[in-house]
Amino acid sequence: MHNPMLYRRLGRSGLQVSLFSLGSWVTFHNQVDASGVREMMAAARDAGINFFDNAEVYANGESERLMGEALAQLKWHRLDYVVSSKFFWGLDAGTAEKPRINGRNTLNRKYLLQAVDGSLKRMGLDFIDLIFCHRPDPHTPIEETVWALHNVIEQGKALYWGTSEWSADEIRAAYEVAERHHLHKPVMEQPQYHLFHRKRVEQEYARLYDDIGLGLTTWSPLASGLLTGKYRQGIPAGSRGAMQNVSFLRDGLLDARKNAAVGELEAIAQQLDCSVAQLALAWVAHNPRVSSVILGASKLSQLQENLGALSVLPKLTPEVLAQMDAISAPLAV
Ligand code: NDP
Repeated sequence: MHNPMLYRRLGRSGLQVSLFSLGSWVTFHNQVDASGVREMMAAARDAGINFFDNAEVYANGESERLMGEALAQLKWHRLDYVVSSKFFWGLDAGTAEKPRINGRNTLNRKYLLQAVDGSLKRMGLDFIDLIFCHRPDPHTPIEETVWALHNVIEQGKALYWGTSEWSADEIRAAYEVAERHHLHKPVMEQPQYHLFHRKRVEQEYARLYDDIGLGLTTWSPLASGLLTGKYRQGIPAGSRGAMQNVSFLRDGLLDARKNAAVGELEAIAQQLDCSVAQLALAWVAHNPRVSSVILGASKLSQLQENLGALSVLPKLTPEVLAQMDAISAPLAV
């Protein structure tokens, strides 16, 4: 058994989210079927996870449908879980000849209002707890996007809104529009954050945590599996690195210097009596600016192993952190 789940505030909001949460990108529908999703979500909830991350675009809407189906069967109290979705790329984006111009790569008011309704329908929910703008849209005035999200919240269809992979300037601009017009403000960001991807969280956003109370739900804590050590000898069959639909990840997963660094991290993990995946996850969770570390798992056994990171957290002494820094920081962006 591992240490019990911890909970943190989502930035300056009153909402408490589990320090580890469960996401569905790549896995739900593509690798995990309906009964697997239900089983994984039930195990996550048993371990104290209360936040489940999703997006309109994951598996073309199927990920939301599967999560909704599982929630309907699991019948949890609505206060016991927090669900997210994210919007930008759009579903049914049309064809190359006839693109659906107002429904893709946008944060315009029309798309956002229709897209949120679509997500609610697929998930079978009355409201989504957290909605994210999945990427910035330089072609729509930030004021239009902020008003649209404010209206979605006022309609009771979402509770909090935030951004994903926006620049610090864009986040601050959205916050200021909301402040000026007394609208619901962005509460959280969803950035990539792991041992090899650090600068945005640690440097670019540094002022935002205290200035505007920004919370973080961070993604790809294992760099898509690189930080488990499974790519040190090439691409194992059945792994994410072998999947055609995410082939853009392959070069990164096979990066020789990073894989060598993972080998060095493995030596530290051995000393701490844990796996390198648990060590890497504990490292992300150790940063107090992180509200929730979103885990990805294609198998229940991975989720169970990864939750063991809770027991590694107290072992991250300043000496251990300095050793990890020396190995990873020179390779990090
Ligand atoms: P990770 O970096 O942790 O990668 C997860 C994958 O690594 C698993 O699916 C599995 O892949 C492999 N893995 C995990 N644990 C183990 C283990 N113990 N042993 C061996 N292999 C393991 O996270 P994700 O990239 O999945 O991101 C997590 C979540 O973040 C997503 O589900 C999504 O909700 C969110 N996200 C958000 C983004 C955004 O733009 N806002 C972008 C990307 C993700 P396999 O078994 O197939 O090799």
